[in-house]
Amino acid sequence: MKCVIVWGNIQESTLCFLVFFNEFSTLYWIIHGGHRLLSEVMDVLYWILLGPKVENRPKYYGREYHGMISREEADQLLSQAEGSYLIRESQRQPGTYTLALRFGNQTRNFRLYHDGKHFVGEKRFESIHDLVTDGLITLYIETKAAEYIAKMTINPIYEHVGYTTLNQEPSLRKHLTQSPEAPDGPVSAIDGCNAEERLTSLVRRATLRESDLAPKYEKVHNFKVHTFRGPHWCEYCANFMWGLIAQGVKCADCGLNVHKQCSKVVPNDCQPDLRHVKKVYSCDLTTLVKAHNTKRPMVVDMCIQEIEARGLQSEGLYRISGFSELIEDVKLAFDRDGEKADISSNAYEDINIITGALKLYFRELPIPLITYDAYPRFIETGKITDPEKRLEFLHEALKLLPPAHCETLRYLMAHLKRVTQYEKENLMSSENLGIVFGPTLMRAPELDAMTALNDIRYQRLVVETLITNEDVLF
Ligand SMILES: [Zn+2]
Ligand SMILES: [Zn+2]
Repeated sequence: MKCVIVWGNIQESTLCFLVFFNEFSTLYWIIHGGHRLLSEVMDVLYWILLGPKVENRPKYYGREYHGMISREEADQLLSQAEGSYLIRESQRQPGTYTLALRFGNQTRNFRLYHDGKHFVGEKRFESIHDLVTDGLITLYIETKAAEYIAKMTINPIYEHVGYTTLNQEPSLRKHLTQSPEAPDGPVSAIDGCNAEERLTSLVRRATLRESDLAPKYEKVHNFKVHTFRGPHWCEYCANFMWGLIAQGVKCADCGLNVHKQCSKVVPNDCQPDLRHVKKVYSCDLTTLVKAHNTKRPMVVDMCIQEIEARGLQSEGLYRISGFSELIEDVKLAFDRDGEKADISSNAYEDINIITGALKLYFRELPIPLITYDAYPRFIETGKITDPEKRLEFLHEALKLLPPAHCETLRYLMAHLKRVTQYEKENLMSSENLGIVFGPTLMRAPELDAMTALNDIRYQRLVVETLITNEDVLF
């Protein structure tokens, strides 16, 4: 027995794991299983070449460590058995280590690192054993199934989700014919547990798509590398997610699970789930409004409504700071209660607490209201002296903002315009408000102190122009 690989295919009603023996020439099928099965089989199927007792063996390596032997020597040793591996110290660069692994009748050498965990690429492993297991799976899939992988994303199930659709859609059966030769041996039905798990994730997807309540803002998924426990299937292409760890990526906002390569083609239709989006402050703006099914962040709507209800005549509105501990308190109330937060005058008598909480909300956005991407264009418009031309450029720059950002900016500017209509009482002109809101709504993408300092006057000017011309710009 030389090597083993596990393979799953959701397009077949039976989930199959193929195990390859005898130099990959004969295929055997093992009916349903999972990583437990995989590790059990793997244990017997690859070979640790035990080295001699070597002095100065790094403590995190075991008997697979052969000390400072040459590349040729390693090759010689490994040529005895496919799937065998050893670790050697580099002769050219002592103190660095190489994992030599026999695969496809070739010895492959990987620079091996250890920082508490073992790694040769981006995945990190507790043991060399896990690293080799995962490496063999990856090598196998990449060499033997490259064509299959390339075709995986061509017929995604993503657009027509739902278990029944999946089974009936003839085009989806294409993958079947690309599977290796029909195997010998029995093929039995998928075990109920796996089917159920698969069904749940697909139905969950379908339900999410049916929701029409959400505003139609586009949102990119927030994919993070993820280690799945037990067998998992990609929710984009429906194929098995292979590997021992870090088999794919998971969206931190909506929980979508896909292959890393599929994540590049998934549409920007992330629908965040409140179970994943726990905070209001310092949460991405689009994520927040999609998670709460609102047009704008509730902090913005509620604070502005509260301020306008109390009257806009208050002197130094937005300029005077409220007591910072109470502002922090409002923030906690929003984080905890969302739209149920109590910001009435019974709770916070001083209006400057509410204006302070609104400014803090904008300051804590991970991506500013005027996004980093759009920032340079806005600064450029600030440098234009001709008022007509500046408006024209500003109008174009607004198109660079994500819709939820643009809508929130429009709403805020209309409010600030109303504030300036009480300038006689509150002493807040659009110029003054520009000074207050410039650095709050616009932040330089890179923190070059000199440029940032230079930009401040343009930030003020941009916000002032937005307030004054709010009616024509939006
Ligand atoms: Zn998502
Ligand atoms: Zn996929």
